[in-house]
Amino acid sequence: MKYQGTIDLIRTFYPGQDFIPLHEPRFRGNEKKYLADTIDSTYVSSVGAYVGQFERMMSDLSETSAAVATVNGTSALQVGLRLLGVGAGDEVITQALTFVATANAIVYNGAAPVFIDVDLDTMGLSPVAVSEFLEEFGELRAEGCYNKKTGKRIAACMPMHTFGFPVHLDELLRVCETWAIPVIEDAAEALGSKYKGKPAGSFGKLGAFSFNGNKIVTCGGGGALVTNEPQLAERGRYLTTTAKRQHPYEFYHDELGYNFRMPNLNAALACAQLEQLQSFVAEKRLLAEAYQAHFKSTGINFRTEPEGTRANYWLMTVELDNRQDRDLFLHYFNAHQVMVRPIWALMFRLPMFAKCYADSQKNARYLEDRIVNIPSSVR
Ligand SMILES: *Cc1c(COP(=O)(O)O)cnc(C)c1O
Repeated sequence: MKYQGTIDLIRTFYPGQDFIPLHEPRFRGNEKKYLADTIDSTYVSSVGAYVGQFERMMSDLSETSAAVATVNGTSALQVGLRLLGVGAGDEVITQALTFVATANAIVYNGAAPVFIDVDLDTMGLSPVAVSEFLEEFGELRAEGCYNKKTGKRIAACMPMHTFGFPVHLDELLRVCETWAIPVIEDAAEALGSKYKGKPAGSFGKLGAFSFNGNKIVTCGGGGALVTNEPQLAERGRYLTTTAKRQHPYEFYHDELGYNFRMPNLNAALACAQLEQLQSFVAEKRLLAEAYQAHFKSTGINFRTEPEGTRANYWLMTVELDNRQDRDLFLHYFNAHQVMVRPIWALMFRLPMFAKCYADSQKNARYLEDRIVNIPSSVR
């Protein structure tokens, strides 16, 4: 079978493992030490020194002025949208080629996702497609951008950096600025990725990250928002802690808040993992080079970072020639205990988003038929 050589290679990357998963966490730093500190301190919940330290580490490495820790990436997106003023009856532009959390976070705010196509090179939201949509449907009023057809406000745009490959940010930010639409980056998969030398997640008004078990860096479950606007961070911290007015002992809540703060236990793990981010990215980039060299001789297209970007190579990605080849590939590898996985079903195919607007989705459909992720763990 033509794929046997690839399986043999992957087995040399992960020797001694019968089953090779898509992505496993690695704990080889201060994880146990910081967790023990946390337990000894008794501050295991949403108050504690590691939460603050984690927020400082996140703002430093994302080169932003502030970060807010959250319980997971989905809640970071949900609160981030609310911070931008997204509410009931609004529309939010995003891509259909994404993990379900991106679209869920929009609906949690009472808004409707508007699914616009992706670019073939980045697999992320296409500035050209967004511009075409806005030329046709957009109307710029004093209060912001409106959809002429639905009468609804287009309150935000949320691109997602698929598998750590940054979208065309300069072009997208230009389009969104023209139409006065604030941008929040779903950078859940792109921690450590760069666009023209600057961290992914630092370009929009807000950027959201995830520390779920399968991400490049994990703390069990966790998320973060980053921003260059201190008042947004302050309000984010307030909304994620039940919107409680500051007082030494009284309980008074000004508005509907959430219990979305990251516990100190998770923050301790996150700090230890973030200390290793640069080495994880370096190792993944070496793994990507090895894969690239191998796939060159097989005729399978190994996806590499778009020009002007430096990807974290969170999940390694190949593009098969058609859906039939993709299905063959998926079957063969999984049958041989090497986990490989197709890209997500496009969001408008899911029952809860079936009635949402979607443009032609030409590129998203093309990629949906061909893209597969292959084992990507740091060794
Ligand atoms: C992982 C992920 C999230 C959110 O993740 P959580 O599991 O809630 O931490 C959001 N968007 C994308 C694209 C993701 O991959």
